[in-house]
Amino acid sequence: MPRRPRPKWPAEINGHRLHPESLMMSYGYRPEWSEGALKCPIFQTSTFVFQSAEEGKRFFELAYGLREPQRAEQLGLIYSRLNNPDLEILEDRLTLWDEAEEAAVFQSGMAAICTTLLTFLRPGDVVLHSEPLYGGTDYLIKRILPEWGIQPVGFLAGASEEEIRARIAAAGIADRIRVLYVETPANPTNRLVDLQACARITRDLGQSARPALLLVDNTFLGPLWQHPLKHGADLVLYSATKYIGGHSDVIAGAVLGKSELVKAIKATRTFTGSMAEPWTGWLLLRSLETLKIRMERQARNAHRVADFLAEHPKVEKVYYLGHLQPSDPQWEVFQRQCESPGAMISFEIRGGEAEAFRFLNCLKLIKLAVSLGGTESLAEHPATMTHADVPPEEQRRIGIRENLVRLSVGIEHPADLILDLEQALEAV
Ligand SMILES: *Cc1c(COP(=O)(O)O)cnc(C)c1O
Repeated sequence: MPRRPRPKWPAEINGHRLHPESLMMSYGYRPEWSEGALKCPIFQTSTFVFQSAEEGKRFFELAYGLREPQRAEQLGLIYSRLNNPDLEILEDRLTLWDEAEEAAVFQSGMAAICTTLLTFLRPGDVVLHSEPLYGGTDYLIKRILPEWGIQPVGFLAGASEEEIRARIAAAGIADRIRVLYVETPANPTNRLVDLQACARITRDLGQSARPALLLVDNTFLGPLWQHPLKHGADLVLYSATKYIGGHSDVIAGAVLGKSELVKAIKATRTFTGSMAEPWTGWLLLRSLETLKIRMERQARNAHRVADFLAEHPKVEKVYYLGHLQPSDPQWEVFQRQCESPGAMISFEIRGGEAEAFRFLNCLKLIKLAVSLGGTESLAEHPATMTHADVPPEEQRRIGIRENLVRLSVGIEHPADLILDLEQALEAV
């Protein structure tokens, strides 16, 4: 079977490079491959037919690394756990936002994170990680990996380069760190981790045969507003359930970076079976077409909402990147590595859990639910919901208070969002 040629990047017209949003409708797919269908069909098939036994043999030799690919030779389609056109086209399109060499997609963000960590970590290794982390990642790194002899060591998001280096020296782990795992901005506090500082630290770590890798979970600002690969990250990870999917109707994940690293992760994915399925791939292809207009509108709405909250007498404190002051050490990091404050806001209501609950229970338009990045606005209570398994003293240390509410701002009319917030705050 003739194989779909890989798209050319950078795509250009008369020497002018095209923007990712212009390519999301067509990149990597040509209608003539599917009887003129404008849209890429769903290749809902578990397996692919070989033209001959010799072809099947050649495909497997490449898939299992039994020989090097000949010039321009691509892996043939074999079986949907290994590859599928919807996933390949999605992976090609995803690379455009982060200008990554290669991408791999997964059935969930946790599958992406877990498969990646499994690929690079071995017993005796240390994972140096920022805190707070997404609840699922926190559990994986602190509870599951230690059972496999992998030690977690944390540092607070917002720590300076000197503080992180001092933490490594005090723990005596410099030559055992294989992965520096970072989430920025941190969930739910919006504290930033300085990616360039982490990249410098990573280069100084590990053993020469197994250098340390900087992994960045870019779910909160990416793929539009922050590009960790440009700041020295080795791999960028996503819960594609959030902004990439964007409609709260699909669970998926992705990893992007240098081909060599992503290929190693894809090999693990083949044997853990953690890939996304064709239908998920197709849904995400559809989502990517509107990614930029959704994220732009969400960011604009969030600015209006954050300004409203900051002025409200029942609100004690607002954690929103757009309100950072030049006097804050985080301001310089924000200027350097973020292209927008995004659409995640956390704020403390005057009072405690009771006041936060009262507020959440009174919302009418904004839904009370975890998750984020969808077209609709969502609110939740981190201390008892997304971060419920972080012990109370730990919660206090990392800045999750009982009166903290997290908001993911959607694409509704901003005046209606403010109306809803106003009446719910009134009821407190
Ligand atoms: C949701 C989320 C994850 C996990 O992704 P799933 O798609 O739910 O598996 C990981 N990291 C961050 C920052 C998230 O918000």
